Amino acid sequence: MNNGKICISICAKTADELFEQIGRAEPLADVIEVRFDRLEIDEVGKATDLISSRSGLRNKLLATFRSEDQGGNRHLSYQDRVAFWNSGIDRYFVGADFEEDIAEEVASWACEYRIASFHDLSGCPSNLDEISDRLSTTHADVLKVAVQANQITDAIPLWKLLENRTPDAKPLIPIAMGEAGKWTRILALAHGAFMTYASLDVGAETAPGQISAADMIDVFRVKELDRETEVFGIVAGDTSYSVSPWMHNAAFKAATMNRVFVPLQVADLDEFIRRMVRPQTREIDLNFNGFSVTNPHKQAIMRHLDEIDETAAKIGAVNTVKIENGKLYGYNTDAPGFIAPLKATFGDLKNARVAVVGAGGAARSCIFALQQEGADVALFARDTNKAAVLAAEFGIRVKEFEISNLRSEISECDILVNATPLGTKGETQNKTIATAEQLKDVKLVYDLIYNPLDTFLIREATKAGVPAIGGLEMLIAQGAKQFEIWTAETAPLDAMAEAVKKKLKL
Ligand code: NAP
Repeated sequence: MNNGKICISICAKTADELFEQIGRAEPLADVIEVRFDRLEIDEVGKATDLISSRSGLRNKLLATFRSEDQGGNRHLSYQDRVAFWNSGIDRYFVGADFEEDIAEEVASWACEYRIASFHDLSGCPSNLDEISDRLSTTHADVLKVAVQANQITDAIPLWKLLENRTPDAKPLIPIAMGEAGKWTRILALAHGAFMTYASLDVGAETAPGQISAADMIDVFRVKELDRETEVFGIVAGDTSYSVSPWMHNAAFKAATMNRVFVPLQVADLDEFIRRMVRPQTREIDLNFNGFSVTNPHKQAIMRHLDEIDETAAKIGAVNTVKIENGKLYGYNTDAPGFIAPLKATFGDLKNARVAVVGAGGAARSCIFALQQEGADVALFARDTNKAAVLAAEFGIRVKEFEISNLRSEISECDILVNATPLGTKGETQNKTIATAEQLKDVKLVYDLIYNPLDTFLIREATKAGVPAIGGLEMLIAQGAKQFEIWTAETAPLDAMAEAVKKKLKL
């Protein structure tokens, strides 16, 4: 538990829209930021009148009137901003957010806290300490420093600003904007930040990387976190599509654990491990206890580990890291996560003829697990050179995968596994590796894709009367194994599955 606040930032165009959104924000937010610079210019007066007539709201409202160069929505001169604040508006708000250049104007404002804010929308400047010192010499009660994190490590100087504050320092709101900075929004309150910002709705973000207030409260539980909270996360090249935070946070919540799972978008894995993870070299300590690792880092992570378990070493990929006593241990839960639902549905896999389509990281784990069970595996891939390397490693057959002639090939198999992204929500959602007609002799279809839950391939299998397993089952099974590695407790499967389904239906 911490003392920080969640502020929902509202950008409405009209006064009516503003009040509709304030109404929905009220039950969720400690503070509601009214972005006056986002209102149509001729709606500002009406909005102010409405706000002044609702004295009960005063304790929650924060006013912001920011110019374009500081992330605002319209060009505002120094005079425009001073005139706005000098109109007496400050008395209807608990807080006001102002820029450094009008700092001298704020001394007499009636609101309870004045936030001096600095924004860098392109990156993180090298002189953050100097900027923060400058802000704290103003009449501000609270400092806000918002920078853009293009890389996860860009947020390190910002985090140091939070961690290195002296006890008498003014409260700070540190924000690293962008997907790579999301973790700062989630963990800031636990480390003493005054406030963190959230959007009212998914898709209504007022700054890059903002998370919805409902998710900040229910999924990440940001106000319940503290310095003792064990931090886990997904290390990926792009975390924006991952449902793992929903799955793992639901598990931690169901098990009433002081743990949180955050998105960790990492481009440079070496730098991330050196500067943020490895105890001997890290510059900040977030209390990381483990990671889920996915594309493109599943193989690259291996050189950073102190120990790799036998299965992961044989597969040649790690999707789970546990950090204990300063050491990093690697595991692979994709293989057991893949095989468990398959065995439960198909039964004994000995000599079962399995066609695996795709030659990437997932295929690698599938092939390993299938061979362990004694299945007869054939690999289909569009890039036969790449597939040949994988096939040679496991001693299996490779066939060039072409949708047009797949039928003759798959009629010889009992189980068809899709380990390509074909059918995933987005560009390839309307594609399938096989049609109902082609599937009619197959005994079971297993599509690793879980978004959407009901893929084109699954629908074709259903049409052909062929039983099918979707990717959700593997996702939950491999996630459950991760949970068990990290916590040594049994995973709450129902809570995990429910959370993923809820997220995917949004
Ligand atoms: P990956 O390493 O990128 O490999 C993808 C494979 O699919 C590559 O062989 C790629 O061929 C091939 N491919 C891509 N687009 C294709 C197309 N249009 N036609 C034919 N082949 C194509 O990805 P991955 O990690 O193996 O994951 C594969 C899929 O499994 C993803 O959709 C992922 O979400 C899913 N998955 C699900 C779970 C789960 O828990 N349910 C776990 C892991 C993965 P090239 O090499 O020629 O590009």
